[in-house]
Amino acid sequence: MLDLTNAKRIGIIGGGIVGWLAAIALRRVFDVDVDVTVIEAPTVFPLGPGEGGSLNLIDTLCRNELDLDVFIGEAGATHKLGVLYENWRGGGIPDRYYRMFGGSGIPEIECRVGGFFPLLSARIAAGENLHTCIPGFELITKKASQVEIDELLATGESGLYPSFHFNHAGFERYLRRVGLARGITSRRAVVHGMRLDDRGHVNAFQLGGEELEVDFAVDASGFARLGLGKVFNTRWCSFANVLPTDRAIIFELEPRASSPVTRATAMKAGWMWEAPLNRSISAGYAFSSRYADAAMAIAEVENHYGFRVEAKHELSLDQGYFSTAWVNNFVALGTASGFVEPLEAALAAHTFEALRNLERILANGCGIVPARAIEGYNSANARCWTGVRDFLRLHYDSKRIDTPFWRDLAAAELPEGYANLRACFQKRTPRFIDIQPYVGSGWQSLFHEIDWISVAVPLGVVPQAAACAELRRLSTESRSEVQAYVDRLKGTIAKISSTRGCMH
Ligand SMILES: Cc1cc2nc3c(=O)[nH]c(=O)nc-3n(C[C@H](O)[C@H](O)[C@H](O)COP(=O)(O)OP(=O)(O)OC[C@H]3O[C@@H](n4cnc5c(N)ncnc54)[C@H](O)[C@@H]3O)c2cc1C
Repeated sequence: MLDLTNAKRIGIIGGGIVGWLAAIALRRVFDVDVDVTVIEAPTVFPLGPGEGGSLNLIDTLCRNELDLDVFIGEAGATHKLGVLYENWRGGGIPDRYYRMFGGSGIPEIECRVGGFFPLLSARIAAGENLHTCIPGFELITKKASQVEIDELLATGESGLYPSFHFNHAGFERYLRRVGLARGITSRRAVVHGMRLDDRGHVNAFQLGGEELEVDFAVDASGFARLGLGKVFNTRWCSFANVLPTDRAIIFELEPRASSPVTRATAMKAGWMWEAPLNRSISAGYAFSSRYADAAMAIAEVENHYGFRVEAKHELSLDQGYFSTAWVNNFVALGTASGFVEPLEAALAAHTFEALRNLERILANGCGIVPARAIEGYNSANARCWTGVRDFLRLHYDSKRIDTPFWRDLAAAELPEGYANLRACFQKRTPRFIDIQPYVGSGWQSLFHEIDWISVAVPLGVVPQAAACAELRRLSTESRSEVQAYVDRLKGTIAKISSTRGCMH
């Protein structure tokens, strides 16, 4: 049992986005007489100007009573309504599909029979794309401005759930300002180590010459990973055999016409991202060092754009997570607990969900936490990471064999969990029961079945025949409803063939 009822200080290592968010969240959980201190060392290097947010970003802001308009202003945020994937099937730039952040009010997503989405399956069976069923997709085709996006979202009829691209440093500054205004203590210092008591609880942070006593410790030290890696020697579960990228170059591009999606373009040895901010585009190329080096990556990027690009940083991407994130009175969050490439802003999504659950457990237990609750947190955390790994692996499940990177990937062994799901997707569309094993103990799934469908269908992981097969199993009544939908969609008098069970 962890008893924090007499806690005097919560210590947080790292004054990045995660450290300050954790401080703001825990400030709400603990009584005002409990000190919350953030230890801030100078940032080792800025990762880049901006990032693409996840679907739980707005919920995180709201829960922490952070003002959305102020966030937008200070973090230079622009709308993020989904992800555009280019060239993942090897067809060049015209080869595109989208994963839109579909919200409520979309019949194709709300109509569910026996665990699947018959109207979406009808689109799949008919070879129709999926993203155009979302009314707000027109914002992308007509290159809508931020104001036009605001206006359509305000009608509640866009069918979209918003998130944002944001400036990393601006968000961090905003969080810090709010944190200080709410009474959080900031200490400019470097944590050199931690003193543990004989139960393995963190008693104090060692700040070089002096110690800061703490009753609960949060490690948000990013890649420094002061706790799990160095003090607790927790096992690192690597994704290196599953997710192929291990290096990245980061650069900035001039702003272009407004685009409310993160662009993910498949390249010869990995993929490239563009996160549009209000004054620039934050970009990078995540690649495999087995097939390219930084010079080759830059050359490929320059060839892609047709102009010179200057890499601001080159860094290693060691993808994976620590098997245990919460040990006694210590918990690691953000990069300090794991890392994945920024393909789906999964690290942010995971961090926000981990923080929501940490807060939920501490608040619901009034600071008294049974060991089983901590075990539950850790097992849910691990499952969540496995879900992230499998969802990201799906993106590479392409039939591309045009470069050694893609050829080797096509022949590579799949992780067991994903391989099994893939076998199911060959026969039917992704469903909630497929994703359920990735959640538990109060954690919510970061990527829903619609997200899986949106990526798996264009890649051919879900073949048209799989959608046909599940439509065939519908009742006669449901089939005629689906047929009416197909007729409206196509403007034809196509019939569902009972023998082939397919939409024409
Ligand atoms: C190339 C790349 C692209 C990314 N793109 C995206 C994206 O598009 N979307 C997204 O959601 N996420 C993205 N991420 C992830 C995102 O950057 C992180 O989720 C986010 O920055 C959280 O970082 P953090 O606070 O955990 O760590 P950091 O921002 O690294 O903060 C850690 C802090 O701890 C401090 N610190 C370190 N050691 C000590 C010490 N000994 N004592 C005291 N303080 C210490 C550091 O100075 C720093 O201020 C990307 C990451 C990378 C590497």
